[in-house]
Amino acid sequence: MAKFLEFQGKEWLRKAGLPVPHGRVASTPEEAKQIAEEIGKPVAVKGQVQAGGRGKAGIVKLVNTPDEAAVVAAEILAKTVGGTPVQQVLIEEKLDIKKEYYCSFVVNGAREARSPMLMFSTEGGMDIESVPEELLFKVNIDPINGLQIYDAIDVCAQAGIPAQDLSKFASFLTKLSQAYKKYDCQTLEINPFIMTGSGDLVCADCKMEIDNSSVGRHPEFGISIARDLPGAPTELDLIGWSIEETDARGTGFLMNMGYDEVSPGCIGYHPIGGGSAMMGLDALNQVGLKPANYADTSGNPVGSKIYRVAKSVLSQPNIDGYLLGGFMMANQEQWHHAHAIVKVLREILPTQKPGLPCVLLLCGNREDESLEILRKGLADLMTPDGPGKRIEIYGKEHVTDTKFIGQRLFVLSQEYRAEKVAQGK
Ligand code: GDP
Ligand code: MN
Repeated sequence: MAKFLEFQGKEWLRKAGLPVPHGRVASTPEEAKQIAEEIGKPVAVKGQVQAGGRGKAGIVKLVNTPDEAAVVAAEILAKTVGGTPVQQVLIEEKLDIKKEYYCSFVVNGAREARSPMLMFSTEGGMDIESVPEELLFKVNIDPINGLQIYDAIDVCAQAGIPAQDLSKFASFLTKLSQAYKKYDCQTLEINPFIMTGSGDLVCADCKMEIDNSSVGRHPEFGISIARDLPGAPTELDLIGWSIEETDARGTGFLMNMGYDEVSPGCIGYHPIGGGSAMMGLDALNQVGLKPANYADTSGNPVGSKIYRVAKSVLSQPNIDGYLLGGFMMANQEQWHHAHAIVKVLREILPTQKPGLPCVLLLCGNREDESLEILRKGLADLMTPDGPGKRIEIYGKEHVTDTKFIGQRLFVLSQEYRAEKVAQGK
């Protein structure tokens, strides 16, 4: 899912006319200080990472002066939360909080609903999981007409909002509902939104996730990859996305695994299908190998798409092997894979990676023909001294045999490393 950081989500809310605190994002303590000076009041310094529970993680702090803002920003920018280094802090005016509330707009996938849903609670600021069920109020939203003011009033009244505040809450929530629809959100959670001492409602936090399938309708977001990634997109992620984005036939999913650098023991990983991908990970884990990347070519993709994925997988530097992991009796016609793999290996092995271990497991529909395409197409490379000397081709007799496939890759990759060391590479 395309997820926004708090400061990005708040910016879109501001543009949609919702009340958000005055402030800006900073990447250095000096910038933080300058923004605090501009605001000219006590500020909140908030670390910008996707993880929730930032308050508890110590990356939401309140300070009184610009100098303090710089000090606290430096502390927060030095932290790593949930494996992600904090690279930015949001500096915004400290709010005069009278009370914190919770609301979120999500997709209710229940059979009788299949619509957006508003959840509202007067218990804001804490994890929604720890709010007692009876204090969380829900109403389904008509996907075409949006949240109606009377439904919003109703849900707030149930939650115990006093009569004189009902129309203020209801108009705040209907405005948010319009933003949810306008931006094609999957989730929009404001936890907390707060009432100030003077009675205004303000969005103090914002978690906004955009529906991946709608990203094409929103060039204004500048989202380069409509997919969940652990951090900023890598080169491989961008390549993978370009393959997926330009050809909708079947899946040609490819992404980085988040390692800084592909290290020894990493295998170019090319499973076929999700379950198969899990079995392939078993195969690698059992022998202490690691996937350099994640990939998936399933749902009957065309050969050209498989070719582009396989070529990208195999072009990664420093891999010790390649696994085509078809750990399932696929119903897609496997000869598309066979043709693509023959073409890629003929391009890569002789010139770039002679002797690279390539364990090819391909099972299912058109298996016999497909294995024959692989054998014939690669035969001249597979001679004892040829660039394809470590290609091994397997079919249904090993379809769930993670132990055997892992072991073959392990033995071949040890050999390959030893050979490289002997050659001084
Ligand atoms: P989260 O822990 O990641 O959900 O981060 P939040 O943005 O929700 O911040 C956690 C808590 O910090 C909120 O529930 C508020 O109690 C408090 N907080 C956040 N921003 C402000 C602010 O500007 N002023 C004040 N007084 N408190 C804030
Ligand atoms: Mn929050």
